[in-house]
Amino acid sequence: MKPDRSIENLHPLMRQPVRDLLAVLHPIRWTGAGDVPYMWALFEGYRSPEQQHYLFTETRNTHADAWHSAHQFGMAVDIVGCTVDAQGNPTLDGWSWATENPWPKMHFHAIKSGLTAPLAWDQAHVELPAWQTFRSLHIG
Ligand SMILES: [Zn+2]
Repeated sequence: MKPDRSIENLHPLMRQPVRDLLAVLHPIRWTGAGDVPYMWALFEGYRSPEQQHYLFTETRNTHADAWHSAHQFGMAVDIVGCTVDAQGNPTLDGWSWATENPWPKMHFHAIKSGLTAPLAWDQAHVELPAWQTFRSLHIG
């Protein structure tokens, strides 16, 4: 299943912080393996409960089952290193989760945009701090 990269599919409270974050991250470049230039880009935003359950049970690349991730509420995004095209935009094709990526710089700007980066095991993940409250209201 293709990751949802639409800002419009995020929760309305999440859209502007993500736009602000991507704007401030846009000029940042670094060099990855093979001297390839990278920049930050939105890898995934909203994720359906079905997709979350699949990732949890089948691919095991998340610690959260359905409705236990801010992605289901449109309140999380994964910001990942991406290769740069000739126009200076992300290719949305070559992605890097390398430890050499300037994650602390990305987290610094995420926090300034009103988001948090709470997962030590998932550096790409930033979310709206209030999402747990929305989850409580949803789950009851
Ligand atoms: Zn995430």
